[in-house]
Amino acid sequence: MRTVEVPLPDRAYRITLAAGALGAADLLRPLVAHDTALLVTDEHVAPLHLARVQAGLDGVALRVLVLPAGEQHKSLASVERVWDALAAGGFDRDATLLALGGGVVGDSAGFAAASWQRGIAFAQLPTTLLAMVDSAVGGKTGINRASGKNAVGAFHQPRGVLIDVTTLATLDARELRAGLAEAIKCALAFDPALLDTLERDLDRLLAREVEACESVIARCCELKAAVVVADEREAGPRALLNLGHTFGHALERALGYGHWLHGEAVAAGLAMAARASRALGQLDAAEVGRIERLIARAGLPIAPPPELGRRELEPLFGADKKARGGQARFVVLRGLGRAEVVAGLPEAALAAAFERPPA
Ligand code: NAD
Repeated sequence: MRTVEVPLPDRAYRITLAAGALGAADLLRPLVAHDTALLVTDEHVAPLHLARVQAGLDGVALRVLVLPAGEQHKSLASVERVWDALAAGGFDRDATLLALGGGVVGDSAGFAAASWQRGIAFAQLPTTLLAMVDSAVGGKTGINRASGKNAVGAFHQPRGVLIDVTTLATLDARELRAGLAEAIKCALAFDPALLDTLERDLDRLLAREVEACESVIARCCELKAAVVVADEREAGPRALLNLGHTFGHALERALGYGHWLHGEAVAAGLAMAARASRALGQLDAAEVGRIERLIARAGLPIAPPPELGRRELEPLFGADKKARGGQARFVVLRGLGRAEVVAGLPEAALAAAFERPPA
């Protein structure tokens, strides 16, 4: 078992990682603030992992809401269903909302918890690699609107996060790879030693070996926790977590959501950011090659699909939610494990980002 503390003033919480945690009453019970809880999950996760959690929460007055799966359901309709289930169950301010699933369930249930009776206790039981290394930690919740992804949301920290990596055994391989992109991002932005680990253990991670997965996930949680504690509301260093995301979000938008997974777009964005950093003189060719090789070995793209070039993607950079006054902001590398935010990129760096490495 591993634990990672998130020592936010007034809202400190713990991330616990343990194989089999989702059936362990002693780990589950403290996540429930009083003795009533609504567990929100999705239609894919429910048949696979819900029964264990229910058994582990024996003694809690527990209701379950199963939402449809998929990014298109990170929506107001889903949040309304959670609010309605809370109302129908007679839940008051003492209730706890538990999110069992990937980032879609975590973000939507988290937003419902942030808004129900102006905020109730919330805990995350992430079941995708992406949620374990990224979305379940840090307190960002929200839903998509036609006007944009994550357009409406709130900061609402969980009271705890419980990670059971054995749930990854049932995850689709493509989803697992997409989650790896966010782990690679953490390594590139903050931790060269994690980059070594990812290179060394990639095959074990792809095979979902418990020890390899837990160790990488715990490190990503530590890195994210440190950033969140330093800058909960993204006024400064938290923006470094957006490495690869200005390119990635533009790609997702241009392709239409649902064609590439978020992590796949981020992977290509990471490689693009690496090439841009080389053009800025901040990475050398060998370091860029190393990054591209790792991403490719993980089965992830290192460039946009052929039909999308500068003409299609550049206009979308300024539309990114993280842009300021229409000026796109990019995260670039200043060496492996060191990221920085820049407002705009010079022509040579943009051109380098769009270079297509030989297959
Ligand atoms: P997801 O929640 O859609 O899960 C991916 C798919 O895997 C779904 O079909 C789901 O039903 C299924 N699934 C989940 N766990 C499973 C398991 N153990 N076995 C089998 N199937 C399983 O997607 P995701 O990649 O987890 O999350 C993506 C979302 O996270 C996006 O909406 C993104 O914006 C958000 N996100 C949020 C933050 C944040 O800080 N809040 C950070 C990064 C990403």
